[in-house]
Amino acid sequence: MKCYYDLHIHSALSPCADNDMTPNNILGMAAVNGLHMIAVADHNAIKNVETFLKLSKEYGVEVVPAFELQTAEDIHFLCLFPNFSLLEEFYRTLEFVDIKNDKAIFGEQLVMDEGDNTVGEEERLLLASAAIYSYRVGDAVKKAGGIAVPAHVDREANGMISILGGFDGDYGAVEFSPYADAAFREIYGADKKILINSDSHTLGDISEAVNFLELRECTARRLIDYLRGEFK
Ligand SMILES: [Zn+2]
Ligand SMILES: [Zn+2]
Repeated sequence: MKCYYDLHIHSALSPCADNDMTPNNILGMAAVNGLHMIAVADHNAIKNVETFLKLSKEYGVEVVPAFELQTAEDIHFLCLFPNFSLLEEFYRTLEFVDIKNDKAIFGEQLVMDEGDNTVGEEERLLLASAAIYSYRVGDAVKKAGGIAVPAHVDREANGMISILGGFDGDYGAVEFSPYADAAFREIYGADKKILINSDSHTLGDISEAVNFLELRECTARRLIDYLRGEFK
């Protein structure tokens, strides 16, 4: 079936995202837009993922456990997992630079419950990098049961190609922004599975039903198997 997706959405936990990027607002918008599958990929953080998973059925939108990893070189990876426990297990292996978030400068980092109530605030600045080099990420995430997708590789800011000049490993899947030019996509997407995600930080930027993957079912498990090139 055609699984319409947007696998790169920031919730209010990301300091740079709007505070109305709440669980119910995001899932509601995804449902209205006709999406079957979303992933909430906050910067170096997973504290809102379980809330989205709990609400997933209510909206009929599959939630893929995820986060957006920022490496020591400031390269971004979309890290996707088939379930929350594998995501959490991998996340716990990471070390982060402990800089306190200055809300006035970077924005609030809100942890929310199923009623969109703020139940906590992340104190550590989530825009600070994790202590892991890019070339280690692909294998590490694969070993942990997920897949690491170099994020928005057509973008200058935090994109692998602009920072390194090319891919530093054998990635099976790659993410382009919706604005990637066709020639660039042809070169850097050759022999790879392609994801085109919104990387939305505001509700209005969440994808319409435009990008889809042909999967037997729209589940996180199936998606990960597909992106890893494995079918069970
Ligand atoms: Zn990014
Ligand atoms: Zn992002």
